[in-house]
Amino acid sequence: MPTGRIAWAVCASGLACACGGGGVIVDAGADDSETTDGWLEEIWAADRIMIVTAHPDDEISLAPVLAEACIEKGAECTFLVLTRGEGGACKLPPAACEPDLGTVRSAEMSRSAEVFAAELLLWDLGNVDSTSPDEAGLQWANNVGGVDALVSMVAAEIARIDPDLIFTFDPRHGVTCHPEHRAAGVLALAAANSASESPRSVFVAEARTRIDTGPDGQPVAGYEPWVAEDGALRTYDANRPLPSRPGTVAWDVVVELMTIHASQFYPSDVVAVDAAGEQLRVVPLLRASDVVAEDPRYQGLCQ
Ligand SMILES: [Zn+2]
Repeated sequence: MPTGRIAWAVCASGLACACGGGGVIVDAGADDSETTDGWLEEIWAADRIMIVTAHPDDEISLAPVLAEACIEKGAECTFLVLTRGEGGACKLPPAACEPDLGTVRSAEMSRSAEVFAAELLLWDLGNVDSTSPDEAGLQWANNVGGVDALVSMVAAEIARIDPDLIFTFDPRHGVTCHPEHRAAGVLALAAANSASESPRSVFVAEARTRIDTGPDGQPVAGYEPWVAEDGALRTYDANRPLPSRPGTVAWDVVVELMTIHASQFYPSDVVAVDAAGEQLRVVPLLRASDVVAEDPRYQGLCQ
């Protein structure tokens, strides 16, 4: 049986304690590193799934597996998005970015949640200006009364939803190394721990965007794991068909969501991702119980 435990402590320096130095997470169970543990069946069997991310569009790196879970297998899915994403750039013509980016992205996020028939909890923790996950997390916390209050807010939603599984970012890289992604991962793991969720039931996203050049010289983009040699990785094959959408595969939902989040992607980005080779159409994941504190392979990925 797994013995993993999320060893995240809220210390005097708040979220910086968890993010700084990479000493984030787990006292892992000794038997958690096998790769054939029924993880996919476990996802399909989930009645309720919760996703915790930082911005509208962050769900894209998980979209294929969520599509199969929420659309095909019928899990009730809840997206907790911590901010409205108002601090990013708008890639639409200026008039389409009105009245402001937060409003535009909030609407995009609502449409994305509809794809999954998901409940959307779109929070407004604020547009923080940070260069580190420590700063990002602490600025969020300061906007709601401190670290304990912030963790409690998320833990309360976990307790209300009572998810069978939680998906979030891996704090060590946050998929793109965005400080707020990494802070969202720390926060989600802390809240899951506070809500007595098993780290075995928490999956963190391990996708890294890879961009290649296709035969025609055009860019081709897809996902690969940050640390491909990690034997604990679970890799969802997004070439799997979606029976409720004949003729489509799970990867197509990535393309669909990029089109929905039009303020964040140029049409050429969408074309590149649509052209991803089969081997790049994957969603790599780790159970939080397999995230080993101080794993040297994951140190300094974002430096
Ligand atoms: Zn983001």
